[in-house]
Amino acid sequence: MKSRVALVAAADYGPATVAPALRRLMELLGGMSRFVKPGQRVLLKPNMLAGKPPEQAVTTHPEVLRAVIQLVQEAGGIVAVGDSPGIGQPLAVAKRCGLLQVIEETGCHFAPFADSVRVRPRGRTFQHLELARDALEADVIINLPKLKTHQMMGLTCGVKNLFGCVVGMRKPALHLQAGADKALFALMLLELAEQLAPALTIADAIVGMEGNGPGSGDPVRIGALLAGANPVALDTVACQLVNLPRSEVWTARLAEQTGRAGASPSDIELLGDPLSQLICPNFRPAADTDVGFGLPAWLRRPLRRSMSAWPKPDGQRCQQCGLCVRHCPPQAMAIHNGRLRIDRRRCIQCFCCQELCPFGALLTRQGLLLRLNQYGRRTHRRPKNNHP
Ligand code: SF4
Ligand code: SF4
Repeated sequence: MKSRVALVAAADYGPATVAPALRRLMELLGGMSRFVKPGQRVLLKPNMLAGKPPEQAVTTHPEVLRAVIQLVQEAGGIVAVGDSPGIGQPLAVAKRCGLLQVIEETGCHFAPFADSVRVRPRGRTFQHLELARDALEADVIINLPKLKTHQMMGLTCGVKNLFGCVVGMRKPALHLQAGADKALFALMLLELAEQLAPALTIADAIVGMEGNGPGSGDPVRIGALLAGANPVALDTVACQLVNLPRSEVWTARLAEQTGRAGASPSDIELLGDPLSQLICPNFRPAADTDVGFGLPAWLRRPLRRSMSAWPKPDGQRCQQCGLCVRHCPPQAMAIHNGRLRIDRRRCIQCFCCQELCPFGALLTRQGLLLRLNQYGRRTHRRPKNNHP
């Protein structure tokens, strides 16, 4: 059976736009009462990566959260909202990104993701997994991603957003487990999504993020909301919406390679507004971070520097706050004599440092062969022009 994904246009975050657009989106899928029954405990999982204001497009917009809460409450659900941010205390981050105000105004409960539960996953990439108790004890999870570029995975949307259910410093431990193997990390994310099994994913793609995402990219107007029960299928449509080849998004690529439902457009029944009218043709992807040229591993190894990308500190912007140093999974970073240094032999190219730096002080330095390859592939792409 095909996975159903609904797509509707939504030009801005005004309540008069978002609430009707979301209602229509859900009607296309049969209404919120198909997913939420009266009395059920419903966890809403927005993207709450960092305490940035909504206009920076780092987090799910508060008006999208408000509109979802309204529909869930109408269906009789008891709502909690939670995430484990990359940096900062959850409550403080929720306040700074405007979500806490909505939670309080709508009488919902804030789930701090303070506690983890060890589970034995169904998949094959984890021996065990520690997930937020708030997520595991909910009757229903509704996943609320923001559509953004992601330096390591290519895109963060339905599947990647659920990584926030891994609490705090357990996230770097999973990065370390995967090392520099992006395919393995993508497989981990897919299995994590299957373990959590959200009933519904609703993506905020009204204003997304392009370029240096997910923490330091540029806001870009896309003008759409998406929803579906299958986060893999939703991501397939998200890739089409921003004109990004699925082969450049690791979770989408691995989903297709492993034959997961919804990984191909032919697996999907698309409802709502025509995709062709909403495609964002000039969306600027994250910089490529590696290229294989189909070479065998023994030949790629000596060319790794030239065929990969690395984080590069920007000496002007870096405040030497040490945040990235504390969160680097393999402890490849250190501050010496007032300068941030990265040990490339230890770096696993996860780009967590870039994601978390509050000052946008970590750039992407591509090796020569990677730059040449990217230039060859993307010369046809037009410059960005969709800034809100
Ligand atoms: S790169 Fe960013 S996070 Fe790291 S020390 Fe500098 S300012 Fe802090
Ligand atoms: S230096 Fe940055 S990219 Fe390299 S391992 Fe540390 S956090 Fe990851």
